[in-house]
Amino acid sequence: MTSMKTSIDYWFTIEPYVFIGIAKEHVLLYNTLDGVILESDKAEVIELLQETLKEDNCGVVLLTNERYKQKEVKDFISKLREKYMGDIIDISLSNGKPVQLLPFYNFPEKHEIYKKHNFSSFKNVLKNLSKISIHIDSTTNIAKLISFLNSIPGTPSFNIVGNVSEAEQYDKLLSFLNEHPSPKDISCSYLNIIPLQPTFENNFSFQILVKLPIDMKQWNHSRQLLLNQALPVEYVFDISSDEHYLQVEQLVEKYRIEKYRLNPVYTGYNFRFFEENVFLTKEDILSTSMSIKDIFARQVMNIYDFGKINIMPNGDAYANLNYPVLGNIFNDNIYEIVQKEIDEGNSWLRIRNQAPCTDCVYQWLCPSPSIYEISIGRPNLCHVKK
Ligand code: SF4
Repeated sequence: MTSMKTSIDYWFTIEPYVFIGIAKEHVLLYNTLDGVILESDKAEVIELLQETLKEDNCGVVLLTNERYKQKEVKDFISKLREKYMGDIIDISLSNGKPVQLLPFYNFPEKHEIYKKHNFSSFKNVLKNLSKISIHIDSTTNIAKLISFLNSIPGTPSFNIVGNVSEAEQYDKLLSFLNEHPSPKDISCSYLNIIPLQPTFENNFSFQILVKLPIDMKQWNHSRQLLLNQALPVEYVFDISSDEHYLQVEQLVEKYRIEKYRLNPVYTGYNFRFFEENVFLTKEDILSTSMSIKDIFARQVMNIYDFGKINIMPNGDAYANLNYPVLGNIFNDNIYEIVQKEIDEGNSWLRIRNQAPCTDCVYQWLCPSPSIYEISIGRPNLCHVKK
């Protein structure tokens, strides 16, 4: 005699565009299509999602009727369906386990494998290079520098940092770059602006660094110099206090500065300023909409440093100036420098893989660690976890 089945079991699935962040006692689902989130601190829900994320399950698990009847699970699934983040399917209606392809980013254990595979499979690691910052001063050997830059394949952008006119034959460097199709930035203080036009006009732009208080005479002179050159300009204001912030506001308004950004500077004495103005809140993290690609990037690379190399006046090359030197452009070629960063470096692949971020649902939604974590000496600068 066969017994009649009265209860219905389901397949529980999560949509592939939903990112799941799991901590010990908290789970967060983030819909990358519309930025909507769903959270839970219920053990039954966390357990269900943990199972869903197991690589063998591929984003689909059997949800028995008994389990579905648990109030916490039922309530959660109801909200999940309302927000189009997941679904349940009567198993009698599907011919075997449905196939769901959750992207890699939902399988935490895959990151290391991906990283290794991704880099070792690149025939040419140089295709990762996106920006070369050239720090110059009076000791820079322009001829050797140009010879090195000439050996760099592709079209990474160039950023010349410092008082350009201090370097002997700096115009040779500018002429070389002028012929290069890459975008070029000159990052210098408003005290050291050099006239570029009409000689150099191909894809150059200025980043004007401003430390407060400003020297009014020099400031006015620099404004005039910039007005005479119709090149794109972005101001970067160093600020380390609320007072600085107010001063910048006044400058921006008075001089109708259209493009600018604030560069918070940690002095060792302004921790409170950072806590109040730089530390992230949950709302800050969720206020930026993120695509699957953005989340994936945060899992495998540092979004600030990846692809960038700094060359110092003595030829030393760094991925991030806070970490050990990778080589010297007078002895090492660009391939050796980049390969060293990929093999041994701390910058391009510096991600949020340290406590307390490893037990935080925002681990991969948060921006990568920045230079502030290094200068302040904390792995997390947020109000979410102490
Ligand atoms: S910094 Fe770390 S602990 Fe803070 S919210 Fe981001 S991931 Fe979580």
